Amino acid sequence: MSTTLERLRAFLAEHTPPTPCLVIDVDTVLERYRALTRAFPGARLQYAVKANPEPAVLEALARDGAAFDVASPAEIRSCLAAGAPGGTLSYGNTVKKPADIAMAHAAGVREFTVEATSDLENIAEHAPGAQVSARLLIEAPASVTPFGRKFGVAADEAAALLVRAADLGLDPVGVSFHVGSQQLDLTAWDIAIGSAAKVFGSAAERGVALRRLNVGGGIGVGYLEQAPPDDAYADAIAGALRAHFPGPAPELVLEPGRALVAEAGVIRTEVVLVSRKAADDPYRWVYLDIGRYNGLAETENEAIAYRFEVVGDHSGDTGPVILAGPTCDGDDVLYQRRTYRLPVSLRPGDQLDILSTGAYTASYSSVAFNGIEPLRTYCISGGRLISAE
Ligand SMILES: *Cc1c(COP(=O)(O)O)cnc(C)c1O
Repeated sequence: MSTTLERLRAFLAEHTPPTPCLVIDVDTVLERYRALTRAFPGARLQYAVKANPEPAVLEALARDGAAFDVASPAEIRSCLAAGAPGGTLSYGNTVKKPADIAMAHAAGVREFTVEATSDLENIAEHAPGAQVSARLLIEAPASVTPFGRKFGVAADEAAALLVRAADLGLDPVGVSFHVGSQQLDLTAWDIAIGSAAKVFGSAAERGVALRRLNVGGGIGVGYLEQAPPDDAYADAIAGALRAHFPGPAPELVLEPGRALVAEAGVIRTEVVLVSRKAADDPYRWVYLDIGRYNGLAETENEAIAYRFEVVGDHSGDTGPVILAGPTCDGDDVLYQRRTYRLPVSLRPGDQLDILSTGAYTASYSSVAFNGIEPLRTYCISGGRLISAE
């Protein structure tokens, strides 16, 4: 059995596509989906489409019976086109227009997440009878790429929204939250699930019985820094459920994005320029054909520290480098605080692989900043090309 990286590299060696490019091994996405299904028996897994909306990825997951977390009409259309029934889609974005709700309802979407009364009223009008969850604002430890305070409301407000949902003829099903993406601190779920239990309690006191708990995404993957294994996440979540829901446990929903697709992808990039700002400067600046605007948006604030590997034989000494992107934007610098080391023999035209880059890369790529085209994605399965765009 070959590893994911061996399969991705075999494809690159055989086809030598122009760089930069992202290659996704769809079989690995399915392996990750099945592994998480085993780690969380009985839970519903909704793939967060924004992590990588490649049609071949959505098709494979839909065939395997996955559900989907969607955030816009375009994501709904992508899932339907991939063969996912509308009823397997959950509209997790709390920021939406009445027309978006109507479109979703017409497409068969029956579940929405809310954090404001105006949105609830729009749902009651354009998706009558729909299931609704309230998004909870949680005070959890910061993740690697946190949501800050953008989403969710306090527990009392969430309970009030769900009671109001019942009054509007909607079906208030429960609570959802997100502890922040690439969350490496397992205590985050305990804090969040404790807070969710308060919403269940306070809604029950007001005559509304909730039944579903959506614990969001946040499961981490290994970049330069390792992440806990799936089982550690599963144990932390199961432990928190036992602690905070002593009665019957609610239905559990998970929304992994990063954890399903990151490790399935590799980006191949080419060194465009190597320069040294002064003769005595120990650092070389290495400019790649990929940067902040054509795929590596998550290097902002150096949040995600990707692992780079030089392609081919460069076995000599290494030296410190600052890694930067190809555009004329001063912010298009990937890493200058964190020191990376690359071979002193590195020259323009040499290639690097950036590992575990299947999530939040192509989907974050701008369409034409500085005339640079969006990151191309090639999907392989069984070692063969199944789609290119
Ligand atoms: C982005 C997002 C996810 C996926 O988060 P990951 O950290 O990539 O697993 C899940 N749910 C919602 C509502 C999201 O916005």
